[in-house]
Parts: sequence; structure tokens; C-alpha cells
Amino acid sequence: MIAKVEPLTPARALRGPFDYRLGEELAGVRVGSMLVVPFGRRRLLGVVVDLARTSDIPPERLVEPLSALEADVPEQLVRLGLWVAAEYVSTPARGLALVLPPGTGTGAARPLRPRRSLRASATPAGLAALDGGERLGDRQRAVLEALRGGPASAASVARVAGGGHSTLRSLERRGLVELEQAAEAPRRPRIADIGARAGGVVPTAAQQAALGAIVDRLDAPRRPLLLHGVTGSGKTEVYLRAVAAALERGRSAIVLVPEIALTPQTAGRFVQRFGDSVAIMHSQLSQRERYDEWWRMRRGEARVCVGPRSAVFAPFDDLGLIVVDEEHDSSYKQEGDPRYDARVVAERRAELEGALLLAGSATPRPESLVRYERLELRERVDGRALPPVELVSMAGVSGPLHERTRQELDGVRRRGEKAIVLLNRRGWSNFLSCRLCGRVWECPHCDVTLVLHQAAAELTCHHCGHSASVPSVCPDCGSVSVARHGTGTEQLERELAAFVDPLPVFRLDSDVAAGSGVAGVLGAFESAAGGVLVGTQMVAKGHDFPDVTLGVVLDADATLRFPDFRAEERTFALVAQLAGRSGRGERGGRVIVQALDPEARALRHAAAHDSSGFLADELPRREAFAYPPYGHVIRVVCSAEEPGPEHEAAEAVRDRIAEAGVPVLGPAPLFRRQARHRAQLVVRSGDRAAAIAAVRQAVEAVAGERERGAVSYAVDVDPQ
Ligand code: ADP
Ligand code: ZN
Ligand code: ZN
Repeated sequence: MIAKVEPLTPARALRGPFDYRLGEELAGVRVGSMLVVPFGRRRLLGVVVDLARTSDIPPERLVEPLSALEADVPEQLVRLGLWVAAEYVSTPARGLALVLPPGTGTGAARPLRPRRSLRASATPAGLAALDGGERLGDRQRAVLEALRGGPASAASVARVAGGGHSTLRSLERRGLVELEQAAEAPRRPRIADIGARAGGVVPTAAQQAALGAIVDRLDAPRRPLLLHGVTGSGKTEVYLRAVAAALERGRSAIVLVPEIALTPQTAGRFVQRFGDSVAIMHSQLSQRERYDEWWRMRRGEARVCVGPRSAVFAPFDDLGLIVVDEEHDSSYKQEGDPRYDARVVAERRAELEGALLLAGSATPRPESLVRYERLELRERVDGRALPPVELVSMAGVSGPLHERTRQELDGVRRRGEKAIVLLNRRGWSNFLSCRLCGRVWECPHCDVTLVLHQAAAELTCHHCGHSASVPSVCPDCGSVSVARHGTGTEQLERELAAFVDPLPVFRLDSDVAAGSGVAGVLGAFESAAGGVLVGTQMVAKGHDFPDVTLGVVLDADATLRFPDFRAEERTFALVAQLAGRSGRGERGGRVIVQALDPEARALRHAAAHDSSGFLADELPRREAFAYPPYGHVIRVVCSAEEPGPEHEAAEAVRDRIAEAGVPVLGPAPLFRRQARHRAQLVVRSGDRAAAIAAVRQAVEAVAGERERGAVSYAVDVDPQ
């Protein structure tokens, strides 16, 4: 047999698969097996992507693999990994790295292996010896006593009995104890269960109806389903029951959630309902913990995988259901190569494996609305109305808070209630300028202003991480008058603390989130009797705090000022999601949205909690410009340290794409970032496959031209 092996190397130039002859001892190798193979003078780790009877390589030049790893990947996942590589214009090795056990992908110096340890058990003769009169030393007796209740790890027995392994070994020689190497019990990651409530609920009629439709489709999935349910309509309960139904059918399930640290409640509910059958994959796990969870799934000990985008590659071979919770969330798109969209991959995987895809949101994407079959939950579970939303204009208002916002915050303070305040800008001030000469403090590596972080006492660049000390004088003119402009979450936290005193104020943004801060902040806000949670878009995620009575969005139209076709969609979703955090309890709630232009379409629809109306407006616009879901967008960014080559390379790529008959716009300059000058091309096409092929060929050809050594290329299919 010939194994076609794709080497797991980050080198773009090295493209397999390469042929290896399988000897007798590797007869069990299949597609998905991982092999260590000789490659020139090196040894590489590779994945078997195909088997064949013959090879084009002459027999005398064919070599055999050195060894096989214990891990193997389901064949379907190998196909999926290669598909991702092709679809997102990456390399096979990088696509495959997504589906391998964690820690074995490209660049891993030493792949992880299952941890084994020595386990001891008493033989029948051993147990008889304990009870009978056989001569036993004190330590030997202690060891056998410790094993009376069943097998245990050799290390723990040795500890109990007070001796090393020698006592065990001597008992083994006498046939009283058996020792064997066994896979160690895997480590179980913990997850903070903020707000997760125990106890089953009785589904509402609407939940029941949705569930009925979902369960019907489980046996014969066709189109994906979209669970379009207002905030607080109990979508999670529907997911839980859908997963239970898949398990009852003997199938496994994947539940994709946005960043788990931000929404531990949802993951917590799955653990509560399904216990050890759940594998949780979150970013705070060590490589070893991820690896152990991977094996629990691979062995079928865990049947449900809850995790962020990478969980779409959970190693099940009997997949029945993929749930995509909060399907509008942009974290489903991977930022680095391969720039895959887990929602698209989930669609593909569901189709390949005959599983049902169930996406859910209160603010679904146009893509899903048009292409999926919609199930609706129109009301909150308790029948309570969605909170009234008031749009207020900030024109002519000085300071970050509108009069109406102040009034309502004051009410929250007097009644000791809870509020959530969203300002999608972290730091203290977004830029500094000299009052005398007008100098603006900018990043030396990027064409953006530096943001003041007061607590850290530094100016930082939010694009490259560059930081500098806070200036007291202007280096250009010597003036000591430096003005701070704009309010970020850090400053707002301070102002709110003074305003709602004595209520506590909690801040949530990525400065706080570094480390394990998120769970701490959410937990503190939840357990406080009253208080204010202030932060970036992180506060608008799917939190379920029933006692929040006020939601506030500051500078709600800031996101509309970005030149991006998703700007409206993003603004709508952010405001509608934040609004959905308020009024989930008996006291009801309200929402205030501050904006420069409160008449903006996205804001008016969000204020009316009208996602269907928003989409009805948005779709014709998308159609007119062939934007998703009516067309596919691919972005190519060329970059170089010196200005010039990036633009020339982009022109060369553009010409080749255009020659292939695919419409392409650009190059347009992008702001300099991380010390690189950038030029962008945008491809918009109805024919996805042809567009991807044309872009790949163009980029590969231009990247291969020798005179362009200094240029890098980033291709983003379905950019967010
Ligand atoms: P969504 O994800 O749709 O915003 P959640 O799933 O967070 O809503 O549910 C909101 C709250 O309603 C949760 O606290 C949940 O436990 C509760 N809930 C869900 N279904 C029911 C039900 N049938 N009866 C009572 N409470 C429910
Ligand atoms: Zn100056
Ligand atoms: Zn920078």
C-alpha cells in the first residue's frame, strides 16, 4: 500500500502529498493517520490524506514511514481541513493543523502524546493473601489494603503504603498485584458558572414548536435552520433540548459560542445539563488540557463539544448537530491564516456528514436570513415586553452623558438597581494634541493616533501594541499644554463612579480581560445588589442578568462612520444586543441610545427591536452592490516596509485577476500598519469558486516573481 502524506510544515513552498510505502507493521494506517516520515535528511510529521495501490515513484526510491502516532483524525475531518485550506487560500498543512489534536499542528516541535501511567490492581491471589495467612510485610499489606476497593494509580498506592514502587514490584513478582500502563484519566477543565441556574424549565409553546421542527430535521437534514429569537426568548433552552435529541439518536453535537470567557453562562448550562459528556474548549486551557479534551471526544467519552470557532473541528465521527449560538458574532471569523469563517465551515461540515446546522440569534445576518429556513421566537419567555428604547441626540451636548442618561442613571442609583453602559472605545482619551502647535501624538509604526491609558500611565497603539510614556511637554514646541480628546471606557468608569456613588462600577474591556479578569468582573456585577457595568462591546454579549433595569449606549453611531459595507449591520446588532440585556426581570427596564445622528436607519430599527425590518431594508442594498449574501467578497492586501512595492504588487495581482475575467477593484491604499505600507484589492463576484481560483493563481504567480521579495500577501475570503 502507498500512503499519500501531507507534511506538516509551515513552509509555503513545500507542497505534498508525498508517497510512502507502508510495510507490514503499518498495515493499519488509514486516511487521517499521523506518521513520522523521513524527508531528505529530516524527519517530519505528516498526515495521510489518501491511500493508493500504486505510485508514480519508482519502487527503489520509495521509502517507508518511521513510525505512526497513536492519534488519528476522522477521515471526514481530513477532507474538511483540506477544503478549508483551498477555500481560504492557505496551505494544506495549515488547513490540516486545524483538525489535528491540539499541539500537533505545524511548527509543534514535539507533538503531544497521550499521557500514560502505571496502574496497579490486586489479583484474586492478592486479595486471598490479605484474608488468608500468607506472609506479608507491613508495606505489602498496606498496598494490598489500598487496592482492596479496586485498581489505583501506582503512584498513589506507593504514597499510601509509604514505600516506593519496589513494594509494588515485589508483589507483582509474587503474582499478588498486576501492574499495567494505562492512559491516564484526562484533565477536566473547570468553567466558572456565572448566572447559570440549575433545574429544568417547562418549554413555552414557542420553544416547543421550534424544537419540534428541529427534531424533525435531525433525521433528514436539508437546509440549515435559523432560530431567530428576540433577546431573552430562551434560545439556549432550545439548543439544550436539540442537543439532547441528537444524543438520543446516538449522535454527537457541537455547540459553537462566541468567546467563552465572555459568556460563561451558556457553557455552564451545557455542563449542568450534560455533565462529563461535554468537552469544553476555551482559550484559557493549557495545550495539555485541550489535548486531553480532544482525546475524550475522539474516544467517544465526550459527545458534546462546546467552544469557540475552532470547536467546529471537534473530532467526532458521528456528528448529528452543529449549533451556532449568537451567529452574528464576528469572533467566528479567524483573523490569521487560514482566515476561515467557522459559520461557513460549519455549513460545509454539516453537509459532508449529514448533520443538522442550527444557527441562532436575535440579530441574524443577512446571509443566514436569505439562505436558511427560519424558525421564530417572537417573545421573551416570561411574556414581558422588550424594553422601550429612547434615541437621544448628542448634538451640542458637552461631556459624554446626555441629560436623559443622567436622569435615568440617577434613578438607578436611588433605587439601588443595575445598569449596563456600552462605549465601544477603551482607554482614557482617544488622542492627545498640543494646544500651542497642534501636534498630534501618533504611532511611529502605524498611521493612527495613540490612545491614552491613564492607569498604565502610557500612550498605546491599538493596532500594533506600541507604547510610549505620557508626555508632559510637547517635543515640537516645548509647550506644557497638552489636550486630551474623547472619552474611553477608563475615563467613563471614573465619571460614572462619581455619579452613581455609592453604587459600585465594574469595567469590562480587553484591558481588564487580559488574564482571568472577565469572570471576576461578570461575577462581581452579578452578585452585587446594585451597580453599573461599563465597557466595550463585551458588555453586549449574550449575558443574562435578570435584574438589569437600564441599558445605555454611548456614541452609538461611531461604528457607522467606518467605510465598510457591514457598518450598518454591525451597528444595528450592537445596539439591539445591548438593548436586549435590559428589562429581563420583574422590575422591567429601559434603554437610552446616545448618537450624533439618532435618525440613522440602523439605530431606528434597533430602537424598535425590529431585526426583520432592518434586514428588509438592508437586503436590497446588498443586492444592488452584489455584497453578501448576493455575492462573495475577497480582499487581498499587499504590504511592504518601503512605500511603492506593495502598490506595484497589488497592480500586478489585479491585472491577473482581471485577465481571468473576475471583477476586481483597487488597489486602494490602506493606512500604514505595523510599519508596513499596504494596498488593498477587493473582488466582488457571484461565482465564488472562480473568484477564489483566480485570486489564488494571481497571488501565487506574483508572489513567485523574484523582484518582489519584500512584499507580503494576505488573502481574506469573506472578510468581516
Ligand atoms: P436568549 O438566549 O434567547 O436571549 P436565554 O436562553 O438566555 O435567552 O433565556 C433567558 C432566560 O429565560 C434564562 O434565564 C433561561 O433560563 C430562562 N428560560 C428559558 N426558557 C424558559 C422557560 N421555558 N421557562 C422559564 N424560563 C426559561
Ligand atoms: Zn506643540
Ligand atoms: Zn502602531
